[in-house]
Amino acid sequence: MEKKNLMYEGKAKKVYETEDPQLLIVSYKDDATAFNGLKKGSISGKGVINNKMSNLLMQMLEKSGVPTHFVEELSDRETVVKRVKILPLEVIVRNISAGSFAKRYGVEEGIVFAEPTIEFSYKNDGLGDPLLNSYHAAALGLCTWEEMETVKKYAFAINDCLKAFWKSCGVTLVDFKIEFGKLSDGTIVLADEISPDTCRLWDSKTGEKLDKDRFRRDLGGTEEAYVEVMRRLCEHI
Ligand code: UDP
Repeated sequence: MEKKNLMYEGKAKKVYETEDPQLLIVSYKDDATAFNGLKKGSISGKGVINNKMSNLLMQMLEKSGVPTHFVEELSDRETVVKRVKILPLEVIVRNISAGSFAKRYGVEEGIVFAEPTIEFSYKNDGLGDPLLNSYHAAALGLCTWEEMETVKKYAFAINDCLKAFWKSCGVTLVDFKIEFGKLSDGTIVLADEISPDTCRLWDSKTGEKLDKDRFRRDLGGTEEAYVEVMRRLCEHI
């Protein structure tokens, strides 16, 4: 499988067409951005870790019954995925208060919820990804009610699976963002990536942040944190 035209270049990935119209090749970069692109930088080796971590976690989720876009890892940074139409929704599941949730509701970080929460934002950089509910998504025609129900069901199933897995690695899954896509036959599958760029991962014992918050908040040791979570994942998968 070879890369053809560059179809899209995002903040952290490039997406190429292939000779098969149903398949794309994703290439992970080390570039990092935060705060809707206001903060820019690079996390050395991140692309390799995010590629491999996302692929391993997606294969684990497939086994637990969640369909994903994953097809085949080609190299350290490149993976073949199914072509999908991305639903313009960022789906965020939270187990513990942090980040924008803590800020919006004026609560401290670290409150453990009795049950996980879910929220959606409209994927639109120009508008700063505004928060929306299911009614807004339906009104805007972003997805059907049935698709929204499928997305919610998968999102909580993904949380159950990932939370238990990370726990076995001595890592607490605080929250994460996922995106879904539609195959040409309408099937909803998990797409995009699952990595320390898109999840909050705290060391279960020390509470140390092992994710992109190290970059966002200039805490230092970002590369080392990505390497450490990847090491734990490989030991326990
Ligand atoms: N997140 C993401 N991309 C975004 C916004 C959030 O991957 O554009 C992830 C983030 O890493 C965290 C979760 O979604 O794991 C919840 O993020 P939050 O809403 O608290 O926003 P943030 O504090 O990152 O702005």
